[in-house]
Amino acid sequence: MSSLPILVLNSGSSSIKFSAYETGDGQRTRLFEGAVDGIGTDLGKFWIKDAAGKKLVDQTPPLPSRAVAFQLVADALHSGDFPAPAAIGHRTVCGGPNIRENQIITPALIDEIEGYADLAPLHTPIAVYIMREALRLFPGIPNFAVLDTYFHRTLPEVATHMPIPTEYVAMGVRRYGYHGISYESILHQLQPNVPEKLVVAHLGNGSSISAIRKGDCIDTSMGLTPTGGIISGSRTGDIDPGVLIFILKQIARSTPDAAAAAEKLETVVSKKSGLLGVSERSNDMRDLREAIQAGNAKARLAVDKFCWTIARWIGSYVAELNGLDMLVFTGGIGENDIAARAEICANLGALGIVLDPARNNVRGEATISAANSSVTVRVLPPLEDLIIVNHVLRLMGQ
Ligand code: AMP
Repeated sequence: MSSLPILVLNSGSSSIKFSAYETGDGQRTRLFEGAVDGIGTDLGKFWIKDAAGKKLVDQTPPLPSRAVAFQLVADALHSGDFPAPAAIGHRTVCGGPNIRENQIITPALIDEIEGYADLAPLHTPIAVYIMREALRLFPGIPNFAVLDTYFHRTLPEVATHMPIPTEYVAMGVRRYGYHGISYESILHQLQPNVPEKLVVAHLGNGSSISAIRKGDCIDTSMGLTPTGGIISGSRTGDIDPGVLIFILKQIARSTPDAAAAAEKLETVVSKKSGLLGVSERSNDMRDLREAIQAGNAKARLAVDKFCWTIARWIGSYVAELNGLDMLVFTGGIGENDIAARAEICANLGALGIVLDPARNNVRGEATISAANSSVTVRVLPPLEDLIIVNHVLRLMGQ
């Protein structure tokens, strides 16, 4: 078998995840996966495990900076214990208005993506840093940007165009949509029987929903940034713009510098809101479920708001699709929070969605709708790395 190991890099605001796949002769076999987590702390985590789950690296190093974190990854991958990659695929949340296609990474491309860092401020700064470092530390190996926004290229203008003055539209303000690689992976798993009218709910620390007709995305909940759409772990989701103006005016009283005030507003809407803001406890659904068990009313309200918002969104997408054949839950909450799926679907009976409680009582891949449900409801994992590998191979002409 010919060997073509592909390395996938997926960086978040405080972590770098990576995995490698053996891809020779049509195979997609995961060789290993790992992560450095806790960037900016004294007690980070660095681990690598093989395909069988055996830990090959398990460390708790100080991670004062992303430079230290990525150097650990590069040193491990250069140690000779792992096959040298033939190419590297970078999960790229947003490339801005001009970069809409997955493509090879050049210094000029990195500059262009960096120019639109404000569109995904939690993701782009570390992603462009890792791109530059990967070009430096893995010389001669092609690197490719695989975009979350690519899947949403089929959105109609009525969905992408924002109701704001044209001067801002010209600056690239529009609905981009995110989690696109996850959505692509759901379609990949449904092949060859992709239903005509499909809604996918990617519910994780960041959450979004998409309406998909005949495999094409026609609407998606996240907008200009991943802060839009449904309520997420620490992000507001869509909100009356008057709320932002009100908060900004409060901030401006103690922060007259406009740029500093904007930063503070961004922290409020991206890091202090959502499930965390409502519960005043955690952005993590597992913590909230524990708190609810203990009778915590704010945690209950946060989760109720989460499920209520999602049900409303699904309802509007059913109107857009003019019906619904299948609803898919994915992401950490979508796959694992049995109660959230039940609570969301309990509000959707009028659409013919009926869950089977016994079938729903699972974590991971399953069909969870009842026999009398007019809509099939499924749970599928987001196989994002696999999709990135597929794009890299396509771009390499393999
Ligand atoms: P993700 O961003 O896709 O990794 O998803 C993270 C979210 O999934 C967090 O809110 C977790 O609390 C949630 N999650 C993971 N496992 C479970 C579980 N067993 N029950 C409820 N929520 C979970």
